Amino acid sequence: MKIKMNENFKAFKDNYLFVECAKRIADFQAANPDAKVIKLSIGDVTRPLPKVAIDALNVAVEEQAHAETFRGYAPESGYDFTRQAVADYYTRRGAKIEASEVFISDGAKSDCGNVLDILGNNKVYVPDPVYPVYVDTNIMKGNEIAYLPGTLENGFAPMPTDEIEEGSVIYICSPNNPTGSVYNREQLTEWVNFANERGCLIIFDSAYEAFVSGDNPRSIFEIEGARTCAVEICSLSKTAGFTGTRCGWMILAHELEAAGMNLNATWSRRQSTRFNGVPYIIQRAAAAALSEDGIKVCMENIEYYKSNAKKLSEFLTSKGYKFTGGTNSPYIWMQTKDNMPSWGFFDLLLNEAQIAGTPGVGFGSQGEGFFRITSFGKAEDYDEAIRRLERIL
Ligand SMILES: *Cc1c(COP(=O)(O)O)cnc(C)c1O
Repeated sequence: MKIKMNENFKAFKDNYLFVECAKRIADFQAANPDAKVIKLSIGDVTRPLPKVAIDALNVAVEEQAHAETFRGYAPESGYDFTRQAVADYYTRRGAKIEASEVFISDGAKSDCGNVLDILGNNKVYVPDPVYPVYVDTNIMKGNEIAYLPGTLENGFAPMPTDEIEEGSVIYICSPNNPTGSVYNREQLTEWVNFANERGCLIIFDSAYEAFVSGDNPRSIFEIEGARTCAVEICSLSKTAGFTGTRCGWMILAHELEAAGMNLNATWSRRQSTRFNGVPYIIQRAAAAALSEDGIKVCMENIEYYKSNAKKLSEFLTSKGYKFTGGTNSPYIWMQTKDNMPSWGFFDLLLNEAQIAGTPGVGFGSQGEGFFRITSFGKAEDYDEAIRRLERIL
């Protein structure tokens, strides 16, 4: 053909990390058919949907069976009841949001990429290590990408520096995937003030907000000044186990303006052109999960994962290992044994303890010498994993 292509795709590196992990695990399993490999690499939830969501789904399915209650196309930005349920969820936690600032979507990953549709070709800053979606969506768009190094010294929570250019876009993920680090109120205030002074936009990914405890902010809208410099992307994937059910949202405050354009109005225009809404039955389940009673039930699953993380954290602490995460996050980001390279440590755990995790270097160059383990598995697996790790760490 003689058509032009989006040649930005040529700049992609192969999706090497998870493919290579899966290959090494499969090779090990083939050579050791009796070995029971414990996967502490799971990046997906494993607990079932909370009953409130299932009940709401069942009622909504039945409604779809009758002409009087049947619903076709949903409003592109979400049903009012869902937008209000999200706004109420935030307001209960001290972040004042209006329903008209909430846009319901099929998940946070889509929004992370789609939001670039309404932005021009800005310079973007992402943390290193990083959730690969921020990098890859900006590669597709042909944007210049710069990295903000996370280190043991800054607790993998990089802070503003003078090198960040005016009018750029900054990605913040807190609690962070992969490092489990969380920004406290002071740090996030510093970021918001910085963005307002420099005319920057913060894209705040709060996918793991439900894991936050204590006074740490769960939304950037808990910070004064965020309404003029930030959009927030979140979903029920981790909060309510919706990874396969799919419902998320993006929040754009009415005050956000750039280039004489209102971001909320522009996003609304984009959605009405390119999106036909999240299914009615899913939005009913989402609204039920977000209700005060619904969230209480969701938190039982979050506590289940957190108790897995706590066991591992206590064990690693007793062994003198340095790590971030484990308290406000399902992730633990640990230093490898004797500062081994990440892949060497992967092989050591797999061969000597039949445990799989994820090599930190796969998330960025600053991840070398670190390793990600997750708490999304079964509680009994963590007891067994610790018994095995006891021998080799
Ligand atoms: C899991 C995750 C999400 C959620 O993605 P969905 O598309 O809503 O399932 C968003 N951001 C990060 C960093 C994640 O790890």
